Amino acid sequence: MTETAPVRVIGGGLAGAEAAYQLARRGIGVELWEMRPVTGTEAHKTDRLAELVCSNSFRDDSMGTAVGVLKQEMRAMDSLIMRVADQVRVPAGSALAVDRERFSEVVTEEVEGLAEVNIRRQEVEAVPEGGVTIIATGPLTSSALSESIARTVGSRHLYFYDALSPIITAESIDMNVVYRAARYGKGGDDYINCPLDEAEYDRLIDEILAAETMPLRSFEKCIYFEGCMPVEELARRGRKTLSFGPMKPVGLEDPRTGQRPHAVLQLRQDDTAGRLFSMVGFQTKMTYGEQRRVFRMIPGLEHAEFVRLGSLHRNTYIDSPKALTAALTVQGGNSLDSTAYPTQPSPQMSISQGIDEESPHAQE
Ligand SMILES: Cc1cc2nc3c(=O)[nH]c(=O)nc-3n(C[C@H](O)[C@H](O)[C@H](O)COP(=O)(O)OP(=O)(O)OC[C@H]3O[C@@H](n4cnc5c(N)ncnc54)[C@H](O)[C@@H]3O)c2cc1C
Repeated sequence: MTETAPVRVIGGGLAGAEAAYQLARRGIGVELWEMRPVTGTEAHKTDRLAELVCSNSFRDDSMGTAVGVLKQEMRAMDSLIMRVADQVRVPAGSALAVDRERFSEVVTEEVEGLAEVNIRRQEVEAVPEGGVTIIATGPLTSSALSESIARTVGSRHLYFYDALSPIITAESIDMNVVYRAARYGKGGDDYINCPLDEAEYDRLIDEILAAETMPLRSFEKCIYFEGCMPVEELARRGRKTLSFGPMKPVGLEDPRTGQRPHAVLQLRQDDTAGRLFSMVGFQTKMTYGEQRRVFRMIPGLEHAEFVRLGSLHRNTYIDSPKALTAALTVQGGNSLDSTAYPTQPSPQMSISQGIDEESPHAQE
């Protein structure tokens, strides 16, 4: 690395913004290539860096979990993402959840304010040759770059689908029906809980199973990610799957009756002001009309106003154990595509994955 050769960071998401920040604070020049808003993705909505596209939860923040320890380690290493997340966090029990708007706004301001970082709003279509490049284009890497990465790492290009869960306005929730509580009282009364008795649960399952879903395009093979399975797929596995999964009532006794409902839909705060709540674990590929009809059957949500409905999205990843070293740099020459690298590949190219092997989407 020299002063005349800045590090290229491709992708201004969570990983790319953090990489740019870490390089800058070490005095290293950065060219940060972000394709939005010139070229969009299927899920991002804004031109901001580090936009959160689905859940606003970064999962557990306690030291008793691996993800909690990782967060502490990142804080100790002056992580920009963790600092901003802590600054704009919203109540979510023992999980770290953030106001998604403020989060990407502040990260964008911080990165834009770094003298070392030159932000280029343009799609990168091929893995660059020479120099040092960090690829941080995440699960929605553009098609052209995906193809180039697939050629470069020489391994089978994998993809699957998962889905966004709906977000509703707080004022449209019937507060006489729902109650506030966190599972086992852990972390305060941060969640809004919609209780269902057995008959209500059964009717909901019938309607979820019968609901019309969005078709997959013919070339798309449907491989769901276990941690982010659409509700209709869960229901198809068995009528009780939801009541033992995202709608599990254990630890959520209704304080008004002291009774545990048959099933519970939890709603998690999505913004600092507490005006928006997301349906925990309710990712779906049901059509928009069906989502409105079926989800309004849930007690307390009869008049729910949806500011975002669930949807399907592509999620691309690479087979990192085969393609990358432990330091996340591309494995030595053998697996590299000779058309992408006519000469020896740069050993310094690293690829950040958009997902980890555990569920990055787990809602709690
Ligand atoms: C729809 C969806 C829902 C998700 N839900 C969750 C969730 O609930 N919880 C969770 O922890 N994780 C979730 N994930 C995974 C989530 O994306 C990651 O946790 C996180 O965003 C990954 O950060 P990243 O920086 O790798 O990718 P991203 O945040 O996606 O950033 C990548 C950036 O690269 C840009 N880009 C792509 N291709 C190019 C190109 N060729 N040239 C220039 N720029 C490019 C994109 O515009 C984007 O800004 C979800 C992912 C998707 C797609």
